[in-house]
Amino acid sequence: MSTSPERLAIAMTIAGHDPSGGAGIVADLRTFEELGIYGVAVATSITYQNSVGVNGRFDLFPDLVIGQLDALLQDRVPSAFKVGMLGRTDTVAAVAKILAEHHSRPVVLDPVLRSSSGEPLIEEGGLEAIERMLPVVTVVTPNKDELTELCGFEVFDVADVKAAALMLVKKGAKAVLVTGVKSKKGSKAESSDVLLVGDKYHVYSGPWVEDLSVHGTGCVLSSAIAAFLATGRDVRTSVSMARNFTLAAMKNSIKPGEGPPFASPRGGRQRRPKDYYSFVTPSPGV
Ligand code: PLP
Repeated sequence: MSTSPERLAIAMTIAGHDPSGGAGIVADLRTFEELGIYGVAVATSITYQNSVGVNGRFDLFPDLVIGQLDALLQDRVPSAFKVGMLGRTDTVAAVAKILAEHHSRPVVLDPVLRSSSGEPLIEEGGLEAIERMLPVVTVVTPNKDELTELCGFEVFDVADVKAAALMLVKKGAKAVLVTGVKSKKGSKAESSDVLLVGDKYHVYSGPWVEDLSVHGTGCVLSSAIAAFLATGRDVRTSVSMARNFTLAAMKNSIKPGEGPPFASPRGGRQRRPKDYYSFVTPSPGV
């Protein structure tokens, strides 16, 4: 017997396509699936990339993005949205306009500006358009570099991050989660994530891992937050559960190519982990 549509929690990702599956809509859908949420995906850009880096991208025209979005929304409004790479400035504005019409549903925004290997993933002027989108956003999840670009000043420590996060709340975001802030506790380096909800700060700290480069962590984190929000949990609970989920995805990362490893939404729950690695090139015709 099929589940009735009313009882099925649906999360929608609106983001770029990374054909290597490490980030973008593929990583988002894997995250939703792992968390028991039915995922639907609107592609905004086709990137040409592998685990080593990005060779190029073709940002879809806004009509193509809105066409996908409208078709899905005519059928069913999802319980939560995750927005990632948008590519074109006019796409940012068009998506923001539609999200404003569904303001009772939570929106998680990962303000993707660049790939982890440094290539731009939004056209010039996109940053300002993303800022204008903040009033429709429930949680925005910049890393330290994205925060610096969004607030216009360099952030170094937790105190700077708190001030910058407050600026984003003043611009309309209901909550801000900043990840990967390096700080010191005694002689040890720590990595802190700072969450600001309304006027309350929450700081999550753990050991700093040097040269930790895992592709797709921002995508997994933001889609996990959207998945938990889709089940009706509040922002603080959703962020806390999504952080744990993402840490497990990083700890159990997989390495499908020559570049850095990918966060694995399946985490330590791989059913038959050896299958990934025991694969031997099949002979032709087999
Ligand atoms: N979204 C897409 C479509 C991407 O291609 C990338 C990076 O290449 C990202 C998001 C950001 O990925 P990361 O979390 O590794 O910075």
